[in-house]
Amino acid sequence: ESASAPTPGSAAAIRVDPECVFCRIVAGDIPSERVHEDESVIAFKDLSPKAPVHVLVVPRTHLRDVRELATEPSLLAHVASVAGDLAADLADGDFRLVFNTGAHAGQTVFHVHAHVLAGGELAEGEM
Ligand code: 5GP
Repeated sequence: ESASAPTPGSAAAIRVDPECVFCRIVAGDIPSERVHEDESVIAFKDLSPKAPVHVLVVPRTHLRDVRELATEPSLLAHVASVAGDLAADLADGDFRLVFNTGAHAGQTVFHVHAHVLAGGELAEGEM
């Protein structure tokens, strides 16, 4: 059996911050309505939806924001790919992808997450 190197952010390599609410959701310590999971990301419904479909795609590994995520390009690409697949599965395929980055931009959870907003007509400036 050949051992392959872990993909970025895969189970073998994940960083955990025990204080982080999304690390606790990844671990299953806090319940969430999951719509996708694989070795490197999970996706679940946002607690306060801002669109008919509002899910968060979250790398399992603890990274602060999209600038840190961009240092792992294959993981960033995977987040975008999963977002598109979910928009196609849960809505008509059109979607808005939002990474709030920093408190002034509305980031409240400092574990990177992509907001996937879809379903119906999204207003300009919504979210
Ligand atoms: P941010 O403001 O950091 O871009 O986005 C954080 C998002 O996470 C918010 O839209 C908020 O509703 C959502 N959220 C915060 N805590 C929880 C939680 O415990 N469960 C779920 N499902 N969503 C959460």
